[in-house]
Amino acid sequence: MNKIIIAIDGHSSCGKSTFAKRIAQELGYLYVDSGAMYRAIALALLRRNAISNGHIDPDALAEVLASSQVGFAADPASGSHITTLNGEPVEHEIRSPQVAAVVSLVAAQPEVRTLLTAQQQALGEQKGIVMDGRDIGTAVFPNAELKIFMTAAPEVRAQRRLRELQQKGQQLSLDEVLASVLERDRIDQSRTHSPLRQAPDALLLDNSHLSVEQQMQWVRGIIAQRTAQTAAHP
Ligand code: C5P
Repeated sequence: MNKIIIAIDGHSSCGKSTFAKRIAQELGYLYVDSGAMYRAIALALLRRNAISNGHIDPDALAEVLASSQVGFAADPASGSHITTLNGEPVEHEIRSPQVAAVVSLVAAQPEVRTLLTAQQQALGEQKGIVMDGRDIGTAVFPNAELKIFMTAAPEVRAQRRLRELQQKGQQLSLDEVLASVLERDRIDQSRTHSPLRQAPDALLLDNSHLSVEQQMQWVRGIIAQRTAQTAAHP
């Protein structure tokens, strides 16, 4: 069966990974959460106390990039993949508010982007991949057969994120979560290198009022069409 690359970008906390995972599951494709890779590098820097007052120590950054291997391992307990940093499972830690607070600063560093973009491109060499992030359709896979740009109203995104954090036992207010989500969007959209933006050939999906199943109904026909087109014109 012919395989394609599906690139999903969009604003923070709009359900990209839930949607991307479901698509990958249905198609038997590899799912890659590129944000987890940026979060793992941010965690490695926090562990070295390399970030203070919005500044990253350049020597520590070079060391972290030379010594950090970000990967994904199967988690039999959840049936999904967990992020690893030099073999250590860090899935829980990379989702902390501390990492969320600095990850966009880390992701704005060109050295970080160059390294992770190359790793992401290598993962997609065989196609049959769904990757979500901020620059997948614009920089990582500019020739992806299907690009989707997701968004939702900021208040809806903050509510969803708050629920996720509460399920993990973290206590934050809706206002705090909304501010964090908007601040990440602001930094991601305004950075010089691969800023978050909709690729001209990406389909827009505003899921403010859509369930995951409704989003799947929308995307199934599009995937079938793109896969058939690729078979006709490989
Ligand atoms: O997707 P997630 O919210 O986990 O991503 C965390 C952060 O990583 C984003 O806010 C963004 O700063 C950065 N990121 C990026 N490029 C990607 C994926 C994530 O800059 N492809």
